[in-house]
Formats: sequence, structure tokens, C-alpha cells
Amino acid sequence: MIDVSGLTKSYEDFQALKGVSFKINRGEIVGFLGPNGAGKTTTMKILTCYMPQTAGTVKVDDKDINEDALAIRARMGYLPESTPLYTDMLVYDYLQHVATVRGVPKDKVRERIKAACEMCGIVDRIGQVIGTLSKGYKQRVGLAQALIHDPDILILDEPTSGLDPNQIVEIRNLIKRLGENRTIILSTHNLPEVMATCTRILIIHQGRIVADGTAAQLEEREAENERLRILLRGVEPEVARLELAALPGVRRAELVPSADAGVAAIELEAPRQRGDGTQDLRAATFKKVVDKGWELLELTRLQLDLEGLFRKLTREV
Ligand code: ATP
Repeated sequence: MIDVSGLTKSYEDFQALKGVSFKINRGEIVGFLGPNGAGKTTTMKILTCYMPQTAGTVKVDDKDINEDALAIRARMGYLPESTPLYTDMLVYDYLQHVATVRGVPKDKVRERIKAACEMCGIVDRIGQVIGTLSKGYKQRVGLAQALIHDPDILILDEPTSGLDPNQIVEIRNLIKRLGENRTIILSTHNLPEVMATCTRILIIHQGRIVADGTAAQLEEREAENERLRILLRGVEPEVARLELAALPGVRRAELVPSADAGVAAIELEAPRQRGDGTQDLRAATFKKVVDKGWELLELTRLQLDLEGLFRKLTREV
């Protein structure tokens, strides 16, 4: 649906994007990750036709953004990094203004404002002055303005930055709901956000894409270690830790806090088994537990260590 190929962008003699290529399919929620200055906002501004690229192409359903900018902009909603909300306007008046700028037909404006407010959960704030809303609600108004012309593609630049943990959860849930029938690209520094919200991850570093795939694919390709979490009863935690640390290949065996008294919680880390898979850490752990007669309460493979992967891929060079 979105096909970005060989995108470059120079700001005078500084090259912010150095040949960025990726494809996004309809219905994906893509997390666009990268450290400060990696090129996320630059890419998003080009995708939303706010800024021209220096070279390369962006196509949406085979239409080039430079040739069909108007038609493509009509399909895209954009939440910039800092939404330029008019703080002394009422929510309704602001959305009406955006609808007019976005070319929503006059007889459809009320209907579209109602639909966007319902989607973003701000119907009861419609008569409130924007400046008096909480940050979370301001962000909802930002999302409502991005949705006002009913776009099927949403581009969100750091949608949860500056929000408190409750607001973050609310906005993430809202984004997931919006993603049920839209394609979404969201940029963030926040790694848990990507795991919680996105179906796919793109990592950009120094103007280049350094990783592209689902969490499972990135783990398969990139993660060096496999991590297990084990909960045991009927054994001294330190005794169990030492026994498990001695399993072949284990690099790290650590006691972690456990909510239940008398339960040993241990995390194991070992190099991922690639290829023949003869040495499965889960099987070896299970066998040890059975041999020792310990009670196994839980054996879980931990999710992708996205933070470790991110650090590895975005080291300064
Ligand atoms: P952040 O997470 O900090 O928002 P980002 O990944 O969105 O970063 P960009 O804003 O796209 O990064 O910037 C990429 C690089 O281009 C940075 O080094 C930035 O300083 C530079 N840059 C961005 N805009 C301009 C501009 N108008 N003129 C000159 N350089 C710019």
C-alpha cells in the first residue's frame, strides 16, 4: 500500500535520510523507532507531503506522492510531534476549522466532527476551551483533527510523549482501535509502546533503516540471546539458581523478585539456538527440574529484548 524506495533528504549539506526503503501493507500498525535525530520526523513529513524529498520515491497504492499529492493527502491523517492546537478555541470550533481546511464538504462537517469525537472519546468535551483540557485530552483532540476527513492512513509522530502512564495506556488503546480499519505509522522512542501497540517494527538510525519486521522476525534475525523465566517451589532459590546456571550454554542466571513467598523466580539467558535446535534451553531446564524433584509453577520464554536490540542496532558509528 505504501511503498518507500531509496528516499534521501538533504538539509543543505547534511544528509538526514540516506536511501530509506520500506513497504507497508494495508491494516498494519507500524512502529517507527529510532534515537534522536535518526530521521523519523523527516520521513513522516515527506510521507504526508509536508516536505519534498531530495531523491527517491514514495507511492501510495501505486500513486506517486509528488504527482498525486492532493489525492494522497486526502487519504492521510497526520498528528505532528507537537500538535498546533489553538488553545483559546473550543474543541468544536477547532475541529470545524480543520475540517474546512481539509476540504470536508460543508454539509458533512457536523457529521465528521461527531464521528471523530466519538472515535476519540471527546464527545463530552466538545464545548470546552482546548487550553483547559488535560494533556491526554489535548492529544485526543489532536487525533480527532487527524481523523476529521476520514483518512485510511494515519501518521502519528510520538503520540504519547509527555503523557502520564494512565493517559499513555488510554491513547495506546485508542490507537489500537483506530488501527482496526486503518493503516498506522507511529514514531516513538518508547520501546514498550511498540511492543504494546504495533504489528511491525521499523528501526531507523542515522538516516538508514537498520531493522524491519515483526517482533518475532526481529528476534529470529537479530536477538543474540534467548531468555526464560522460571518459577519454582520446594527449593532454596540460590540452590536452584546455581543448578540452572550450570546448564550447558547458560550465560546468565539471576534471581528476580517474586510476588509469592516460598517461590523462587529465576531468569535464564543463553545464546539462541540457530540451525539444528538440538539444544533447547526449555527442555534442558524442564529435565533439570524433574530430575531434582522441584515443583515447576511456570516456564516462560520472555518476549523480544527490544531494548537490547535497539541499543545494538543504533550504536553510534
Ligand atoms: P527526534 O526523535 O529527536 O524527533 P527524528 O528521528 O525525528 O528525531 P529528524 O527530526 O527527522 O529526526 O532529524 C533528522 C536529522 O536532520 C537531525 O540531525 C536533525 O538535526 C536534522 N534536521 C531536521 N530538520 C532540519 C532542518 N530543517 N534543517 C537542518 N537540519 C535538520
